[in-house]
Amino acid sequence: MTSAMSDLPKVQCIARARIPTVQGPDIFLHLYQNDRDNKEHLAIVFGENIRSRSLFRRNAGETQEERMIRGAYVGKLYPGRVKADVDEKQGLSLSFDEKTGELVVEPNTTWCDKDTLVRIHSECYTGETAWSARCDCGEQFDRAGKLISVEREGDIVGGNGHGVIVYLRQEGRGIGLGEKLKAYNLQDLGADTVQANLLLKHPADGRDFSIGRAILIDLGISNVRLLTNNPDKVAQVEQAPYLHCVERVPMVPLSWSGNHKDGIHSKEIEGYLRTKIERMGHLLQKPLTLHTNNDTNHQSTPIA
Ligand SMILES: [Zn+2]
Repeated sequence: MTSAMSDLPKVQCIARARIPTVQGPDIFLHLYQNDRDNKEHLAIVFGENIRSRSLFRRNAGETQEERMIRGAYVGKLYPGRVKADVDEKQGLSLSFDEKTGELVVEPNTTWCDKDTLVRIHSECYTGETAWSARCDCGEQFDRAGKLISVEREGDIVGGNGHGVIVYLRQEGRGIGLGEKLKAYNLQDLGADTVQANLLLKHPADGRDFSIGRAILIDLGISNVRLLTNNPDKVAQVEQAPYLHCVERVPMVPLSWSGNHKDGIHSKEIEGYLRTKIERMGHLLQKPLTLHTNNDTNHQSTPIA
């Protein structure tokens, strides 16, 4: 276990802030640094009881105001608040190991043993921001947020959800946005998503989830209910010490719901999903309707 732990990237949460959202609950955005790359990986945390060890650790000489500014506080901030470790309005407080400065995990919190709904999501500028119908990343991201926001946090009814979306900055399955745009041109020239990456001399999938594992461990999560269709992600979560994938929660594309108003409808998305299933082993089983080349006939090809 010691050697496996040392293989894991070292991560440090350097700032956390509450984000009120346009629909649904407040979330806590956690920004991480690590010893593998210079990217700002994130954890989007739903629920007050999931706490980063590295963020909350007391630093020598640090003031309560400094702790509040970097987000290492309990409860809610309000004008005039002076203590990070105590929220007097809500009657919440944190305790620390006096020698190490580590946050003490209180037995009455649910966050260490509870099965936690988790999505490990890789950044996709085109799918999440530029309305792309070439992939379903934006849809999956939104659905993960909705599912986690309605999870109950222990006995709290009507809370802010319970779970985490780890947001990794590995655009285009790890090849970067510029190379991804070239891959899209190759796809328009007839390649599928795997072939396009290989033609550009990149791996079919160059993503690395080890930073995601390290972030989940830092957040005190051990039992993961993983939102994914990707068996490789399940295997990667299982690799890490302290992490156990207790359940895989499938992400079925909304366009398969039978309601043509739902989800993404494009010939590109159908090819994309087909490649995920046939070439990358994704665990999606519903028959996929494929359009013929001239798009006038519809042909149904079951994929099991
Ligand atoms: Zn995408």
